[in-house]
Amino acid sequence: MKTAILGGGLSGLTLARLLQEQGEEVVVLEAEQEYGGLCRSKTDQGFTFDTGGSHIIFSRDDEVLTFMRRMIAGNEQRNNRTTKIFYKQQFVKYPFENGLSDLPPEDRFFCINEFIKTLIAVEKGEIPAPVNFREWIYYTFGKGIAECYMIPYNEKIWKYPTDKMSLHWVDGRIPRPPVEDVIKAAIGIDTDGYTHQSVFSYPRDGGINALVRAIARPIEPCIKTGFRVTSITKSGKIWQISNGDECIQADQCICTMPVQHLLACLDDVSRDVKTAADALKYNSLVCVNIGINGSVPGISWLYVPDPAVGRTNRISFPSGYSGHVAPHGCSAILAEITHQHGDDVAYLTDGELIHEVVDMLQSMQVLHKDQIVYTSVERQPFAYVVYDLDYQKNIAIVKEYCNEIGIPLVGRFAQFEYLNMDGCIRSVMDFLATKELQ
Ligand SMILES: Cc1cc2nc3c(=O)[nH]c(=O)nc-3n(C[C@H](O)[C@H](O)[C@H](O)COP(=O)(O)OP(=O)(O)OC[C@H]3O[C@@H](n4cnc5c(N)ncnc54)[C@H](O)[C@@H]3O)c2cc1C
Repeated sequence: MKTAILGGGLSGLTLARLLQEQGEEVVVLEAEQEYGGLCRSKTDQGFTFDTGGSHIIFSRDDEVLTFMRRMIAGNEQRNNRTTKIFYKQQFVKYPFENGLSDLPPEDRFFCINEFIKTLIAVEKGEIPAPVNFREWIYYTFGKGIAECYMIPYNEKIWKYPTDKMSLHWVDGRIPRPPVEDVIKAAIGIDTDGYTHQSVFSYPRDGGINALVRAIARPIEPCIKTGFRVTSITKSGKIWQISNGDECIQADQCICTMPVQHLLACLDDVSRDVKTAADALKYNSLVCVNIGINGSVPGISWLYVPDPAVGRTNRISFPSGYSGHVAPHGCSAILAEITHQHGDDVAYLTDGELIHEVVDMLQSMQVLHKDQIVYTSVERQPFAYVVYDLDYQKNIAIVKEYCNEIGIPLVGRFAQFEYLNMDGCIRSVMDFLATKELQ
C-alpha cells in the first residue's frame, strides 16, 4: 500500500512517520522548498524565529504531550508562563479575569460589578442563551471584561465581527475561571488561569522547527519538497497526483494541505461544494521579527487588544523560551499581526511594517531604536480558521464531498478546524486508529 500525503506540515509529517512505523510506504508532497508548514523556523545572524508565529509546546492531552516531549528529548527547555495583556499602558496578568487587581480601580470595579450582575441575571434566567460569540462573551464575563478586553482582543485577532462568529468552539479554547477566582483576582489574591499551559516546553535549539525535524527524521527520504500539487485524478484504483511536471501514483491519498487547495486540484467539483469552500473564512499573518542588544521584559508573550496601540495583536519574547535563539547579550521579539487577504496590511512593505512595530515597542518602553540589530518579516497566507455563523453548514458540505471521493482530511486547514499542534497530532492518531478498525 503506497500512501501519498499532500502537505508536509506537522500533520503530514506525523502521519507519514506513524504510517511508516506501521509498515506502509509513504510519500509526502510539500509545495515549499522546506517542510514544516506553520512550524518552520529561520535562523539568521544568530537569531532563530518561528516563521508561522511564536509557538510553544503544551497540551491537556497526555499521550500527545508525551509524544511531542519525547521527540525533542535532550533539546527541551521547560518554562513557566508569564503572560500579560497590555492595557492602558500597564502589563495586566493573563487571563484578564485573573489579572483584575492589576487594573485601575474604576476598571476593576466595572469588571467585577458587571461580572457579578451578569451571573445573577443568568441565574435568574433574565438573559437569553447566547447565539453568537459576542453574546457568549457578554453572557459569560459581563459587560466590563467584555468591553475592556474580550471584544477588542477577539475582534483584533480574528479580524471578524464577534457577533458574526459562531460559539460552538469556545469550550476548552477560551479560559473560563471559577467565579471565586475572578472575585479573588479583583480583590488582589493571586490566582492562575488556563493552568495546563502554565508550564510549557520549547526546543532549546532550532525553534519550533526542531519538533517537526525530529518527527520527520526517519521519513526524510520520503519527503518531496518543492512539489506543489496542482492536479489529482483517479484511474481505476490508483491516484495520480501531479505538480504539472511529475506524476506520483498512490493507492491512497490523504490531504493535510488547505482544503481549498485540494478542491482546486480536482475536476468535477460541484458548484455547491465550491461555493461552500469559498465561503470558509480564515485569516493571514504577518510576523515582524526584531533582534535587539540587551534584555526584554521577563514576559513570555503579551496580548495587545487596543487598536490605538498598533495593529499587532501579540508580542512574544522567544529568547525567554530558550537562551539559544539569540546571540549572547541579545534578545528576540516577535510581533504578530493577523489580517485578511487583500486588506491594507497585505499591501504594507516589510519596511513599513517594521517601522510601525518598532515605534509601538518604543512607545511601550520595550526597546529603544538604538538597540535594534536585526529585523525581518514573514508572511503566512493561512494562519487561523475563523468560525463564522455559516461555518458548520459549509464545512459539512465540503467534508461530505471529500469523504465521498475517498480523500481523508487531516490537520488544521484540511479539516479546517482551529487545531493547535496537539490537536493536529491527536487528529493523526485518531485517524490511524479508525483506519485500523476498518
Ligand atoms: C500565530 C500562530 C501561533 C501558533 N502557536 C501555537 C502554539 O503555541 N502551540 C501550538 O500547539 N500550536 C500553535 N499554532 C498552531 C500550529 O501552527 C498548527 O496547529 C500546525 O502547525 C498545523 O499543522 P498542519 O500540518 O495541519 O498545517 P500547515 O502547517 O498549514 O501545513 C500544511 C502544508 O501544506 C502545504 N501545502 C499547501 N498547498 C500545497 C500544495 N498545493 N501542494 C503541496 N503542499 C501544499 C503547505 O506548504 C504546508 O507545509 C499556532 C498557529 C499560528 C498561526
